[in-house]
Amino acid sequence: MSDYDKLVADTQATLDRIARDFTPAVFASSLAAEDMVLTDMILRAKLPIRVFTLETGRLHKETLGVLNRIRETYDYEIALYKPEQAAVDAYVKQNGLNAFYDSIDMRKECCRIRKVEPLNRALAGNRAWVTGQRRAQSATRVALDVQENDEAHGMTKFNPLADWSEQDVWAYIRANNVPYNPLHDKGYPSIGCEPCTRAIQPGEDVRAGRWWWENPETKECGLHVVDGKLVRSKSIA
Ligand code: SF4
Repeated sequence: MSDYDKLVADTQATLDRIARDFTPAVFASSLAAEDMVLTDMILRAKLPIRVFTLETGRLHKETLGVLNRIRETYDYEIALYKPEQAAVDAYVKQNGLNAFYDSIDMRKECCRIRKVEPLNRALAGNRAWVTGQRRAQSATRVALDVQENDEAHGMTKFNPLADWSEQDVWAYIRANNVPYNPLHDKGYPSIGCEPCTRAIQPGEDVRAGRWWWENPETKECGLHVVDGKLVRSKSIA
């Protein structure tokens, strides 16, 4: 068995184990390439892991188009979690629509309203959640484990692609004809909200296009951060 085949088999085994031992479980998909690999594995195997995405209200139209591709390919409706409108309106009224460019605090407050609060709602009542994070993605993810104890959310967190390289991700997508966001073909290896994501140049870090005006150490949206610190969950794998 090649290293790649073993990686795929191990990942499928991790997902099978989550479905068997950790339900109810959910998968937080950003609809990016990594998350499409996991979506494909979960939906083709018809695993009882519910897939949702955070519809922040600031996503690219190409990202929203991925929802249609998933519907067509897998006959599956991704659950959408949206921010509370009153909180969005208050932030915009007080600070302006794009105040996240003004300071890290303003950026984190926007992410808290549009991502963190909806994420907490989506996770409530589950035993485990799954992410598509990879260790090689950024300086903030080098300590990632496949299975972690997420004390902040009071549940187990799985990162089944922790060991995958970017090449592995694309090998799986091509081999299995998995639908993906067309922005990946236009210089966007990492995709978030439209105003906070730009295309990168050849040779740049894969997350260089996310919040490009900030230092690499601050570049997380708060989904994996508690009280301003990156959560180093305990490995229990
Ligand atoms: S990524 Fe940008 S637009 Fe999206 S929630 Fe965070 S600060 Fe707001």
